[in-house]
Amino acid sequence: MLARREIFPHVLEMNYQARRRLGCCVYLVHNQNEWALIDLGYDDTLDDIVEIVRQLDFPLSNCKYLVATHADVDHIQALKRAKEVMPQAQVVGHPLAKELLENGERIQTYAEIEAQGISLDLPPVQFDAVIDEGDVLTLGDLKLEVWHTPGHAPTQLAFRLDKLLFSGDNIYRDGCVGNIDAHHGSDIPDFISSLTRIRDSDVEWLLPSHGPWFAKDNAMLQKTIDRLTEYQHMADFGTCAVDWPLLDDWDKELAES
Ligand SMILES: [Zn+2]
Repeated sequence: MLARREIFPHVLEMNYQARRRLGCCVYLVHNQNEWALIDLGYDDTLDDIVEIVRQLDFPLSNCKYLVATHADVDHIQALKRAKEVMPQAQVVGHPLAKELLENGERIQTYAEIEAQGISLDLPPVQFDAVIDEGDVLTLGDLKLEVWHTPGHAPTQLAFRLDKLLFSGDNIYRDGCVGNIDAHHGSDIPDFISSLTRIRDSDVEWLLPSHGPWFAKDNAMLQKTIDRLTEYQHMADFGTCAVDWPLLDDWDKELAES
């Protein structure tokens, strides 16, 4: 048996529980004999995670949800095998994540990044239900409110549990954000909206998908929003920028020359 190290009431995190970095954050939320995992990580850490869960005395047969925060391979590669281990658990995520993962799509999920020599297995997985903005996942009498927070990925969801937000790849403790990449479906104006929503919410703690949890800090969020706001005007062909002010200036200069 392993002692439960709750990071907040009803919430555990598997890297923290293991006292070593397994991969992305894998949160276990539980109440009244029901529990869920938020993300599963890579396939090669699934056995360790399942063993930790067993040792923490959470019966596998009580797992209600296996949640995909979004469709990136580093978050969900283990989803298919996790479903085999816990067949009663419902695989849930955004409707577009369902489409990408049921079809084993490889570019938007980062299974294939040719320029970096990355080519990872992405076993297609069937979803049991789709969830989107305004939906609620229940565990006992706990309610996880589903937020759709696109920007890093169009499939990105966040989950609010009272003053906590499982915030996905929106922002990390150092103010960095999830990768912005046109091939991945990233969108900078959407990203700014999602971060603004998080800033303006009365959430107090952010539980991200990478790195440690941290207290929401509006000044830090604002700095990141400002950085993305600038970045969206730093265009070149193929990026996610919304405009290219230099070319507007040049148009004017050419017309006046
Ligand atoms: Zn990620």
